[in-house]
Amino acid sequence: MGGNGKGDASIHAFFPPTPQSSPVKRSATAHIGDGFTADELRTALQPKPAEPWQPPSEYTESDIRDLYPGPKAVTFMGRVCNLFDVANTPKTPRSAKGCVKLCVKDETGAITVRLWYADHMPALRLGSLVSIWTNHISNGENGTLSSASAPLYASLFPERDRSCHLMLHENSDNGSMHKKPLGFRKGQPLARLMTLQSFIDGGCDVLDARILVVVKSIGPKKRVTRKDETVTENISLTVQDDTAEATLGLWGSTAASPLGRAVSESSTNPEAVIVSEGWEAGETILLLQGPGCKLNRSTYLNLTSATTIDVDPDIPDAAWLRHWSVRQRSREAINPPFPEGVFDLTIIRSGPVRCLYTIADLDEVARAAPTETFQGYLSVLITEVKLHEYRKRRMLFAGECCSMPVYANDVVATCKGCDQRVVLRVSPKIIGQVMDETAVVGPGRLLFSDRAWRSLLGREPAGLLKLGDEETRYLSDRLLFCRVTLLFGWTGDESVAGGGICVLDVIA
Ligand SMILES: [Zn+2]
Repeated sequence: MGGNGKGDASIHAFFPPTPQSSPVKRSATAHIGDGFTADELRTALQPKPAEPWQPPSEYTESDIRDLYPGPKAVTFMGRVCNLFDVANTPKTPRSAKGCVKLCVKDETGAITVRLWYADHMPALRLGSLVSIWTNHISNGENGTLSSASAPLYASLFPERDRSCHLMLHENSDNGSMHKKPLGFRKGQPLARLMTLQSFIDGGCDVLDARILVVVKSIGPKKRVTRKDETVTENISLTVQDDTAEATLGLWGSTAASPLGRAVSESSTNPEAVIVSEGWEAGETILLLQGPGCKLNRSTYLNLTSATTIDVDPDIPDAAWLRHWSVRQRSREAINPPFPEGVFDLTIIRSGPVRCLYTIADLDEVARAAPTETFQGYLSVLITEVKLHEYRKRRMLFAGECCSMPVYANDVVATCKGCDQRVVLRVSPKIIGQVMDETAVVGPGRLLFSDRAWRSLLGREPAGLLKLGDEETRYLSDRLLFCRVTLLFGWTGDESVAGGGICVLDVIA
């Protein structure tokens, strides 16, 4: 059927063209043989990625606590809580190029995994979620093959031995599995958990002492040449809790853990080509158990083979510390970003109720209803302008990186901590004191939006950089003792704008 024109016509009469079989489309593709679309054909013809590993036999799923030494095909899942490079000199071309000793932990126990690799190590990081298949669990009693915190071990060389495997879950890790520390009981304090200050004051001698810290800043990754000429990588983090601050040094393969990067080098899991996020200053919480500690003028922490580290553990103390950190950062912020989507300039301008506050009113309302968000007008006199002074001190623009202030007479600068470019905004301090008949607002307490800066300065903020000495003086003098109306918003949420008065626009 369909050989002659007549047959086609009768079929078309019964089946009106669908979008896929419209005449135009049909002439575009030369022949429609088997009903596969061009896309399907293209996908099918593409070279296949390496076959995903298939278990050659049945492996018993097990909690880490239930593993025992001896031959048995078992599989278990957990998070990497330590990562140690093992010195290894390849003897033959086919022998392993390297070995890492991992400590893998679920919520029931921890085990050492010695992972050999021929080419390169999978992109494992502290906190990575992994699944492991092995035929044998060993007892590392002598302590060199495993560590005291995880005495049992499994030895894997997946590239040479198809009966064992390590899968790194990058795509399927939603960040919630195996996040509870060992021994955590809901509603009970975590055993051996102490503040950083107590740890420094002698707690570091307690076996398996635990500290919970938030990452305050992440330094640049460095290459360090050791005394024996070998090269290793190092990264230093500043960590803190509400009592003290310390440096945490990560060496070798662990130095990559805090950094975000594309994960494509994984040879055991070729599907994993995604960008994994790095740790974040002010956000990432680390639970360290038994860290190495050097006390000099400052505190230096590092990972020993017995240390375990939980990244963003799912415990109430971690949530508390993260909240503390956010509050702390916004309170100390030099020039917090102007809050987006919190206030509505259109409603201030043309809403049914347009409210003119005095500074004293604002103070009263903020005290009476500390959780409220409100907005309105303030009419103030600028009594102090420090434009000229800040220009001379090269601090016209300000920002923050690695928990350090960054100043420049420029819209970008380089952070001294991490060598990254930091985008700067006009320093709020260039407007000193403002006042009205009722009260005074101190320097830096007004946070201007870009629009407000434009209205106040009569130019784009970056335009300040084009002004010469005389012109800056002139602009300063023009602003000083100016009466301006501020369209402002205020919120009791200190994590927004650090409790300052947000100026959305200025009417001169
Ligand atoms: Zn930085």
